Amino acid sequence: MHWEIANATIITPTDTIRQGLLSIEGNRITGASDSSRKQNAQSLRMDVSGLIASPGIIDGHDHLLGSYRPRVGDRRPYLNWLAWDNDLKASPIYKERQQIESSYLYKLGAYRHLITGVTSVQDHIPHFVRELFASDLPIRLLKDYALAHSVTSFALKWGDSIEKEHQKAVDNNLPFITHGSEGFDQETIDTVKTLAEKNALSPQTVIIHGIALSDSDIDLLARNKCSVVWCPVSNLYMFEKTAPVKKLLEKGVNVVLGTDSPMSGSINIFEEIEVAQKYYRKTYGETLDEKILFAMMTTNAARAFKQPDLGSLREGALADFILVDGDAGRPIQSVLDINYEKLMLSVIDGKPVYGDPAFVSFFEELDAGYQKVMVAGTKKIVSGDLLGLLENVRKAVRYEKQIEFLPVEPW
Ligand SMILES: [Zn+2]
Repeated sequence: MHWEIANATIITPTDTIRQGLLSIEGNRITGASDSSRKQNAQSLRMDVSGLIASPGIIDGHDHLLGSYRPRVGDRRPYLNWLAWDNDLKASPIYKERQQIESSYLYKLGAYRHLITGVTSVQDHIPHFVRELFASDLPIRLLKDYALAHSVTSFALKWGDSIEKEHQKAVDNNLPFITHGSEGFDQETIDTVKTLAEKNALSPQTVIIHGIALSDSDIDLLARNKCSVVWCPVSNLYMFEKTAPVKKLLEKGVNVVLGTDSPMSGSINIFEEIEVAQKYYRKTYGETLDEKILFAMMTTNAARAFKQPDLGSLREGALADFILVDGDAGRPIQSVLDINYEKLMLSVIDGKPVYGDPAFVSFFEELDAGYQKVMVAGTKKIVSGDLLGLLENVRKAVRYEKQIEFLPVEPW
């Protein structure tokens, strides 16, 4: 079916289109132009005057199997992930989480993102684990990648060797994704040096965290066109330190924003955006350019994860986008100021999956099922059975669990 969003302010890779028309056919965008074009008789056209159309947000780092809350970690700052993980495994909240089916945890994670305008997420985990539990999710998982857990002798044994996984990435134009420089022991500090020795620094390489990166590490990353996923909330919580983001940007390293798991990271991308901006201002005494931060969640992420059809609204791209209520004169800033109330519609793969009740008839015309929910006091409609999921989680833990990242009630 062919359908159109008319009179939106469309954020394109190079510009913004006022009174824009976004055309969708199947799961692709077939055009982004101004709204003066005559309506095709067969197409469904929706007037969304005043709203901003943005590429859906891409979250660069999460572990959906760990989608639970509250955070753990009584002995911060940690030396490295392992010290934190030991505390996690010994915590009562981990025991509580263990009572919940893994497929439900995946869904909790997917909805955590969906209600915030995230349309794609990189779930860092071996493929065989994800394939066991991640089914029927209302969000796009970036599934094509090679990986290592991290670059130390105590890394989890994920994937084949670093050399083999990186080669797989080069051969198939995939990202090679690994945690790196996340902590302060010598092996962790030596992440980039070790990757260089293993010939695993290239445009495929995506380093998550990069807290301990030195100037020479950053030079190597820049020279090899690597990417870094910046997760300020998780880093500041676990380590009281985060990546040298200004230097990374100045050297031209491709930086992506990520929330990490809510058991160490942010509640959601709203908090991540806010902390990223505050941290930058406090640390460097200047504002993080809105276009740069926006790129970290869209085009930079698409580049890092080798997803050229995501992250921008243009003809031929996948139809993953959001509509946001805000100041049409400052469209990018409006997306950065997004909150539950201002997110008006999320479309993934050409299908509406979340939005304001004003779009009910649109969901119905496109045969997209929905459930009515109240999200942080705002009425919304959402794909799938979110209320049933929350009910199943409460049954599993045997009390009226409230999950901070899903402030959802029946409507
Ligand atoms: Zn991680």
